[in-house]
Amino acid sequence: MKHIDIENVLQDKTLLGSTVTVCGWVRTSRESAAVTFLEVTDGTSFTRLQVVVDKSKLALDPECTKCGASIAATGVVVKAFKGEGAELNAESVRLLGKCPGDYPIQKKRTTLEFLRGIPHLRLRTNTFSAVFRVRSVAAQAIHRYFHSHRFYYVHTPLITASDCEGAGEMFRVTTQPWNAKYDSEEAYYRDDFFGRKAGLSVSGQLEGEVAAMALGRIYTFGPSFRAENSNTTRHLAEFWHVEPEIAFAELPEVMEVAEDMIKNVVRAVLEECPAEMDFFEKFVESGLKAKLQNIVESKFAVLEYTEAIELLKKADVTFQYPVDWGCDLQTEHEKYLTEHYFKKPVFVINYPKEIKSFYMKQNPDGKTVAATDLLVPGIGEIIGGSEREADPDKLLAVMKERKMDLASYQQYLDLRKFGTAPHGGFGLGFDRFVMYVTGMENIRDVVLFPRTVKNIM
Ligand code: ATP
Ligand code: MN
Repeated sequence: MKHIDIENVLQDKTLLGSTVTVCGWVRTSRESAAVTFLEVTDGTSFTRLQVVVDKSKLALDPECTKCGASIAATGVVVKAFKGEGAELNAESVRLLGKCPGDYPIQKKRTTLEFLRGIPHLRLRTNTFSAVFRVRSVAAQAIHRYFHSHRFYYVHTPLITASDCEGAGEMFRVTTQPWNAKYDSEEAYYRDDFFGRKAGLSVSGQLEGEVAAMALGRIYTFGPSFRAENSNTTRHLAEFWHVEPEIAFAELPEVMEVAEDMIKNVVRAVLEECPAEMDFFEKFVESGLKAKLQNIVESKFAVLEYTEAIELLKKADVTFQYPVDWGCDLQTEHEKYLTEHYFKKPVFVINYPKEIKSFYMKQNPDGKTVAATDLLVPGIGEIIGGSEREADPDKLLAVMKERKMDLASYQQYLDLRKFGTAPHGGFGLGFDRFVMYVTGMENIRDVVLFPRTVKNIM
């Protein structure tokens, strides 16, 4: 259908005085004695276009005034009666699709919880359309950032035989019938599609390292799957994962890239989505814009894990989980550090080796590894990264200590055998990042169709 975007009608001053056609959904309508006003959105802009229908010139189909109806309107673009921008003086309005009164997205504000029950319609609200425009802009900005810094975009497999050593519980991929009967697990998998146990990838890192050890700098941006049995506001079973991997880099360079990338993408969102950010500021998180501006302008804090434990021990709050050197930081601890103590993002570095993955570089102290988590206010961990162990002997020793099946990591070990080099990278949970920039508090509200325990709509 020949028509132009509402965003263009609102922004492009050269269209004033010309006749255009727009298509969209009616959000509200008002009547006066002489005119009907329709507020129409087509998804291209946060602001709606006001379509003005002069009753003496045009007999409007009453169905066109119903909330949710889709219409095509042709008319002259004129300066808006109030404020900046433009409106449309309609010459014709055609009903494309009517919308009966049981349409669940009505004018009155409903709860996010209610909207979670209608994921196919909730995008038509201001909140969700704004979230998804910001999500798209942020994703584009991430690609732009990496492309302009010569990181190659690689596509790592989603079906995998390795579980990235317990980064998360893996979903199985199988074509075996439910009632298959076998004497042993081995025999069962031998008969399966791949001839061995396979699952959905929890991280593209191990394959990402393969690419980085040839291309220098790479990143992946795709889904990861984790059978997380934790019902939290920041875990999904299917989430979007950004994973850069950098050859010839040690931990400080990994952190530099993480900080620079976050700042770049936040800046892009602030610049490209001003109306959406105003909306989030007003209705979702007051202080959001100042928070993000502060991110762009300030240096992220860096804190040794050991110092973090000291700070937490001295804190005048009672935590549910006690802290001691060697423990994993819980969300409450992460939030204390980033929200109360530093009031900005914090890289915690050099964690005890026992609580981190086998592939992380062992520090000379023999107790810690060169790992980092980036913690942000409101969410906690948003990035997990590390320098990788590049020394074949040290890597092998740890893998043996952990009783890992060396045969299935042969390729990974080969990277250390043939021209090993310091390298590292991180994983950013993209959905958590979207929560952070929009102020949305539940990860279920920043993805189209959230997948969580016992929920797949
Ligand atoms: P957490 O401790 O929060 O469960 P993690 O340590 O398991 O996270 P990593 O393996 O370090 O996470 O993964 C890197 C990033 O991916 C995390 O910092 C987070 O932003 C994101 N992430 C991990 N698991 C999930 C999930 N289930 N849903 C959404 N994002 C996730
Ligand atoms: Mn982590």
